[in-house]
Amino acid sequence: MPRIFCIANQKGGVGKTTTTVNLAAGLAQAGQRVLVVDLDPQGNATMGSGIDKRKLELSLYDVLLESASIAEARRRSDKGGYDVLGANRELSGAEIELVPLERRNQRLHDALAATHADYDFVLIDCPPSLSLLTLNGLCSAHGVIVPMQCEYFALEGLSDLVNTIKQVHANLNPQLQVIGLLRVMYDPRITLQQQVSAQLEAHFGDKVFKAVIPRNVRLAEAPSYGQAGVVFDPSSKGALAYIQFAHEMIERIKQLA
Ligand code: ADP
Ligand code: MG
Repeated sequence: MPRIFCIANQKGGVGKTTTTVNLAAGLAQAGQRVLVVDLDPQGNATMGSGIDKRKLELSLYDVLLESASIAEARRRSDKGGYDVLGANRELSGAEIELVPLERRNQRLHDALAATHADYDFVLIDCPPSLSLLTLNGLCSAHGVIVPMQCEYFALEGLSDLVNTIKQVHANLNPQLQVIGLLRVMYDPRITLQQQVSAQLEAHFGDKVFKAVIPRNVRLAEAPSYGQAGVVFDPSSKGALAYIQFAHEMIERIKQLA
């Protein structure tokens, strides 16, 4: 049985996809079997794993509409060493097509059940919204990893996400919990970032991951090569931080078990 995590934050551009692909590749390097589910119609996790979203014959869209299984639709990220259930623009149509269907929130959960023997980790890269797609992610997961920048408004957005997680926990998925907050794009020279980071630790304690991901241009360059930063430039500061985070996750799930 894999541990299934959503990487979620309803804001865009906060490092969800970067976290998903780097954690996936970092876990794969540590010998873990990983599936990335690209739940965002932008398909950035798909492209960033070296898989051309325009050439997908089958994708998450087909899985959600039950015209393909995950085993049929997944692809291998050769460089990353993990599998990808890819997405492209087609997926935005699923948002509407799912509405009249039975178990519309549980489609991903149901499809993942058939792959449980294949993986140690499933990482779900969520879109920047609290939509039906995101709900499918939250209904499938054991926990949520929240990447966030240490900026003033970050805390404000967090309460909406935490409330959604509480509601899903109460009504749809009793095992769902916040696994942790991951500080990303961190610049220690900026006083405000230091202050927000300290506030997060004071407020959320152990829920704040020890690993801190710095702002690092190598992480931003890697996707255009279809690679995670930890593969593209393993010795860069950003890559080293994500490797540390991958090891922290492996430790963290031992405590959950
Ligand atoms: P999201 O998936 O939340 O929209 P992304 O992971 O796509 O966010 O990140 C948004 C942008 O910031 C991308 O261009 C990405 O390459 C860049 N980025 C993400 N993390 C870092 C980082 N630690 N340092 C520098 N650039 C980053
Ligand atoms: Mg993204």
